[in-house]
Amino acid sequence: MVDVNTRVAVVRTQRNYSEVEEAVREALDLIGGPGSFIQSDQDILIKPNLLNTKGGESGMTTDSRVTATLVKIAREQGSKVVVGDSSGMRFHGASERVIRETGTRSACEAAGGQVVSFDSTPSLRVEIPDARILKECYVAQPAIEADVIITVPKFKSHALTKFTGAVKNQLGCLPGGQKTIAHRLGSTPERFAQLLVDLYTIIRPRLAVMDAVVGIGGLWRSTDRLTPGLIIAGEDAVAVDAVAVRIGGFDPGDVPTLRIAAESGLGVADLNCIEIAGSRLEDIAPAHLVSNRRISDLFGFLFSTLSQFFISKQNPKVHPEKCTGCTHCLEVCPVEAISMASDRPLFNLDECIRCFCCHELCPQQAVGIDWGLLGNRVMGRSRSSQTSAETIP
Ligand code: SF4
Ligand code: SF4
Repeated sequence: MVDVNTRVAVVRTQRNYSEVEEAVREALDLIGGPGSFIQSDQDILIKPNLLNTKGGESGMTTDSRVTATLVKIAREQGSKVVVGDSSGMRFHGASERVIRETGTRSACEAAGGQVVSFDSTPSLRVEIPDARILKECYVAQPAIEADVIITVPKFKSHALTKFTGAVKNQLGCLPGGQKTIAHRLGSTPERFAQLLVDLYTIIRPRLAVMDAVVGIGGLWRSTDRLTPGLIIAGEDAVAVDAVAVRIGGFDPGDVPTLRIAAESGLGVADLNCIEIAGSRLEDIAPAHLVSNRRISDLFGFLFSTLSQFFISKQNPKVHPEKCTGCTHCLEVCPVEAISMASDRPLFNLDECIRCFCCHELCPQQAVGIDWGLLGNRVMGRSRSSQTSAETIP
C-alpha cells in the first residue's frame, strides 16, 4: 500500500462563478477547514495571479470572486488580510490598473481586505540559501512579513514551464522588473523552473486555492479558453499543481517545476501519494492545456530565446521634457541607484535592480523603459517615447 502524504480537494462549480463561494468553502472544509490554516490576529497575504487587465472569465487572471471569498473567510477567522500582486504589464500604474480593472480591488475591499500593488510597496533584499539559480532577489515586503500566505493561482499553460500554477504564482511577489531579471536568469525551461523552485523555498504558501473554474491553454488565443469548472485546493502547492496538470493532460513529471520541487523535498508530485477529496479525477473530463505538443515546445523555445534579447534588456530612462526634478524617484529607489545631475535623475545601471519603482511612482510619468536598440525597433517605438505595455507571463 502506498503512503498518502497529502490531501487535495477538487470541487466542481458553475463555470460562470455564480456559486464559487460555496465551492471554495467546500474545498477548504474537505482539507480540514479554514481554522487549520488561519488563526485570529495573523497577518494573511492573499496572492492572486493578476497578469493583465482581463477578468477571471478570460482565463488569464484569478477571478476576483475567488480571491474575495478567501478574504471573507480569513476575516471570519479574525485575521488581517492584504491582497497583493505585481502584474506582468509594464506601463505607468500598470499593476494598480490591473488590480482595479480585474475587479480585485472593489471585491476584496468589500470583503474586508486591504489591496496593494507590489510595485508600490517597499521591497526587501533576500538571499536564498542553497539556491541554484536565484541566489538573491528583492521581494515585496508584504510577502516577507505575512504570517500566512494563501496563493490563488489560475489554471493556465505557460510557454516555458508548460504550466502556470501554485508554485510559479509566487513570481508575482517580485516587484516590477525583478521578474525581468528572473526571466534573464532562467534562460531555459529547466533553469526557469529551478529559479521558481529557488523562490518557492523562501515564499512558501500555507494554502493553495486554484481558480480552475475557467483557465487557458495552448498559446493563449481566445479559442484556447478552458472551462474545467473546478476549485482545487490543498496545503501542498506542489500537490495542487500535480492534480491540476493531470486534469490538464500532463504527467506531473513532465512539468519541470513540479519534478524539481518534488526531488528537492518541497512537496508531493506523485499522484499515488495524494489523496483526492471531493470529485474523483476519473470522473473529470480532461481540459487539455496543450493541444499540440510540438507547437508548444517550439513556442517555448522561441519565448526563451527572444526573452534573452528583448525582455532582459529593459532599463529605466528619463524623459527630460516631462521631469520636474522633484527627486521623488531618488526617495523610492530601494538601492540608491539614482542621483541627480542638472536637476534630472541619473541611473546607475550597475546598481539598478530593475524594480521600476521609479517608473511606477514618478508623479510626472517621466521615467520610461528602454528596451535596448533592437528591442525598441521590434516593439515599434523610439527610445525617447516609450510607454511599454508588454506582458511578461
Ligand atoms: S520622480 Fe519623476 S519628475 Fe521627479 S525627478 Fe524623478 S523623473 Fe523627474
Ligand atoms: S533606478 Fe532604482 S527604482 Fe529605478 S528601476 Fe532601478 S532600482 Fe528600481
